Amino acid sequence: MKHVKKSAKLANVCYDIRGPVLQMAKQMEEEGHKIIKLNIGNLASFGFDSPEEIQQDMIRNLPNAAGYTDSKGIFAARKAIMHYTQQKHIKGVTLEDIYVGNGVSELIVMAMNALLDAGDEVLVPAPDYPLWTAAVSLSGGKPVHYLCDEEKGWLPDLDDIRSKINKNTRAIVIINPNNPTGALYPDDLLHEIIEIARQHHLIIYADEVYDKVLYDGVTHTSIAALSEDVLTITFNGLSKNYRSCGYRAGWMVVSGDKRHAKDYIEGLDMLASMRLCANAPGQHGIQTALGGYQSIDDLVRDGGRLRRQRDLAHELITAIPGVSCVKPKAALYMFPRLDPKIYPIKNDQQFIAELLQEEKVLLVQGTGFNWPQPDHFRLVFLPHEDDLREAVGRVARFLENYRKR
Ligand code: PLP
Repeated sequence: MKHVKKSAKLANVCYDIRGPVLQMAKQMEEEGHKIIKLNIGNLASFGFDSPEEIQQDMIRNLPNAAGYTDSKGIFAARKAIMHYTQQKHIKGVTLEDIYVGNGVSELIVMAMNALLDAGDEVLVPAPDYPLWTAAVSLSGGKPVHYLCDEEKGWLPDLDDIRSKINKNTRAIVIINPNNPTGALYPDDLLHEIIEIARQHHLIIYADEVYDKVLYDGVTHTSIAALSEDVLTITFNGLSKNYRSCGYRAGWMVVSGDKRHAKDYIEGLDMLASMRLCANAPGQHGIQTALGGYQSIDDLVRDGGRLRRQRDLAHELITAIPGVSCVKPKAALYMFPRLDPKIYPIKNDQQFIAELLQEEKVLLVQGTGFNWPQPDHFRLVFLPHEDDLREAVGRVARFLENYRKR
């Protein structure tokens, strides 16, 4: 047989969170090394249990979950999601506007596949959650990155957004709360993004999968709640807010003026039908989660485990010479900066690989999030405080040696 090559359409597709350095870590684990992993936002693997009521209801419903469901999801889940959109003040959402998927990930790819033709451009943040960039490329579109401004708490740079719009621009992606920076966007900024989208006829894709993982008493506004005209697709799910990544239960909601989007919506319906349906057991967890009493609040409030770990990780990481970091207001990550004068890194993947080899700590390099310079990395603050202390201590030791090189 001839050498089997991957398709040409994968040439520009990249997903470094599970990329080559992770393979290296797996290899090291097979050789018996113990690695502290600060690389993936998988809550369950750090002892953050999913709410018991979700598990119980999924178990109870398992016998009813052996068949295919409606392609857009079971009624109970979509009804609960509809109520959730009402709580978030998103107007005019009916059951038909809701698609349940195997996590948000599947729906992101679906939404891009239904939209894009060759030459179409989508504005994606830098840094981003890299699935967005990958999904645009895989769908034949061109991701165009707009900068988020570290000096302004990682808020999107509106002038940069404006300067990157042209006749091929179809949509803008916003990730709020943000992975990897932990930023939370204020309403006035959301209004400005809506205005840009309105002027240039862009669709807004709003990834809000962390909308309940909020610290310091801040509140989250869905961008879809702030306009009734701009076509907006909002993504959310159980993975993070309900610590249930493995159940693969996510959804997307179409809102705004849908009259001009009939064709696109037909495309979404077709792609939803082609994959038959999302996994049915996961769908049965949605109503219980959204209507349930076991929320994430205890973990994020003052003294809660996630909040303590965020505070500790931030304190420790910013105590290292030449490392600065915007304190996250939300989500599970921080995106520290390594002063290039002190750490003249040329290739940040190599840097992260060396850290792994020397100190057995796994992080993800900033360029893996489409950040243009090799001067950042992402840290997940999910491990217990002792492990965080140990891990950041090892990073500090590695950096101290790096400075002496
Ligand atoms: N969007 C963002 C911003 C994420 O960080 C993640 C996962 O880390 C996802 C989407 C994927 O979520 P899901 O588990 O629902 O596929």
